[in-house]
Amino acid sequence: MKGTDILGNDFDVECIGCALSDNTLVPVGGIIKETDNFILLQDIEVPIKGFLVIASKQHIKSFIELPKPQAVEFFKLCYDARAALGNFEDINDCTFIQEERSGHFHFWILPKYKWMNDLFDDSISSIRPIMKYAEKNLKSEENIEDIQKCVERLKLLLNE
Ligand SMILES: [Zn+2]
Repeated sequence: MKGTDILGNDFDVECIGCALSDNTLVPVGGIIKETDNFILLQDIEVPIKGFLVIASKQHIKSFIELPKPQAVEFFKLCYDARAALGNFEDINDCTFIQEERSGHFHFWILPKYKWMNDLFDDSISSIRPIMKYAEKNLKSEENIEDIQKCVERLKLLLNE
């Protein structure tokens, strides 16, 4: 799978989830939190501050393939990540996205910012256009720096 990270570096890996799990691919700021079976990170391709991804370390499609204790471990990480985003004043609410059609289980937590509502309908159908807009327009040095600061803050909040 080919892509470009938020710093503009191209990558080409067989599976993004596996490449992140084994450190072949490193997200901006590094992994925010790691549990026995999951990693939490800033999305590697979309430069939206606090746009988080939880990926399984195993190459599975759905959490339904996990034994229940691992599903509980996943939800705890999801809960803690969302709670940590509550510390950022400019984040109002979040959208949670998980598509079982994707090859490697990953769960998105997308924070909602004012600019999104200014530019797009406040609707689930706006999510792809918002991501495309961010990839095209939000790779400024200032925004990347904000994202890195956010990752550092989340690391502190989630690993104490
Ligand atoms: Zn994989």
